Amino acid sequence: RRVAEAGSVAVIGLGRFGRALALELMAGGTEVLGIDLDEDLVQSLNGELTQVVRADSTKREALEQLAVEEFDRVVVAIGGDVSASILTCSVLLAMDIPAIWAKAVTDQHGLILEQLGVHKVIYPEKDMGRKVAHLVRGAALDFIEIAAGYAMVKAPAPSSIQDVPLGETGLRRSHGVTVAAFQHAGEPWDNADNRTVLHAGDTILVVGKTRDAEAFAQLL
Ligand code: ADP
Repeated sequence: RRVAEAGSVAVIGLGRFGRALALELMAGGTEVLGIDLDEDLVQSLNGELTQVVRADSTKREALEQLAVEEFDRVVVAIGGDVSASILTCSVLLAMDIPAIWAKAVTDQHGLILEQLGVHKVIYPEKDMGRKVAHLVRGAALDFIEIAAGYAMVKAPAPSSIQDVPLGETGLRRSHGVTVAAFQHAGEPWDNADNRTVLHAGDTILVVGKTRDAEAFAQLL
């Protein structure tokens, strides 16, 4: 039972990562079951999630009792205790849960989760470190590498493309990038098109090959 959009997600492990994930899902209208061993953590999220329960996720009976298999997706957000993470994933896989996501704290941990058959392994610290590398070295305000070698960068609009319609800047030919969206200072974001005219102080979202998009984000 695979669905494109997850209407309900079970989050196992409510540490810094799991908690932020669960609250963001709630804010977006997704139903969330939170599970953690720690009673204080469970108490602190009481009323903030659809349901929060104290349970040991390495025990199959506990997960069955909570009907975890009825959720569209299950995220294992246990990091510190690698054996608990591995055992939990093993139990979920044995229960035939169709969409298991798990956080890995090291490459070795991630490799084991992948070998077990976890459907999506995420590396939050590694990914964030790589992302910050792109931000700290230049002027980009935000950076997402969408695929290897292709990125989306948020940056101030450089003066070379200000005060003329984007369609007349020859940006794709000269810099290999496309301005996908823009924000005039203090206004909401909007999609960019050929007629969009940018001004000093505007912010843009640029897409293109990582090297081109980053180089463009450095222009003043
Ligand atoms: P973060 O780095 O995001 O804070 P942690 O790995 O420190 O993540 O936190 C993981 C959470 O998972 C902790 O709150 C911990 O109590 C919980 N946890 C660890 N083992 C189990 C388990 N067997 N069952 C349920 N929750 C667990």
